[in-house]
Amino acid sequence: MTDPGKNSQKVMIRIGFDEGLTARAERLLKALDLSEVAAKVTVNWNKRLRTTAGRAYSNLAKIELNPRLQLLPDEKRDHEINQTFLHELAHVVAHARNPKRRIQPHGDEWKQACADLGIPGEERCHSLNLGRTTRRKNFAYICPACEEVIYRVKRMNRSVACYSCCKNHNDGKYDNKFKLIEKRLV
Ligand SMILES: [Zn+2]
Ligand SMILES: [Zn+2]
Repeated sequence: MTDPGKNSQKVMIRIGFDEGLTARAERLLKALDLSEVAAKVTVNWNKRLRTTAGRAYSNLAKIELNPRLQLLPDEKRDHEINQTFLHELAHVVAHARNPKRRIQPHGDEWKQACADLGIPGEERCHSLNLGRTTRRKNFAYICPACEEVIYRVKRMNRSVACYSCCKNHNDGKYDNKFKLIEKRLV
């Protein structure tokens, strides 16, 4: 069921500072009357994150997201990025509202912040869920340059290039040279 049109679609993996998400975080914090934090919040894609979807340095109002979220299948990607972003932002909100108190990371203050940010009932942990872990991976995607490997249950129907190599050798822009090579695993 591969759509040939989609095969030619190219995806650039974003890393580093994210202007759009930072602006969104700023707006959301202002809407909650947290202007001081809104002025310093930053959202970054950190390629060093391995199995963590995201994390927040609440006292610095710094949010980090795993660039691998961008490699999720089309039907999951936007939702997972949004959910992770809001989950981490809720940590920032909870801390900003309780600067002097030690609060539980996923306690009542955080749950309230999730509700205020439009994700009531958020319960996820921070680990990156690339499909059920017990599920067998059927495909491997290998970078021809650095040989980094990404395993997937389903076939990717987009052209995806290695983010480290595009960053290091092509100013972070998509380069066919670093297009991942598909291998079907038996
Ligand atoms: Zn959390
Ligand atoms: Zn590479």
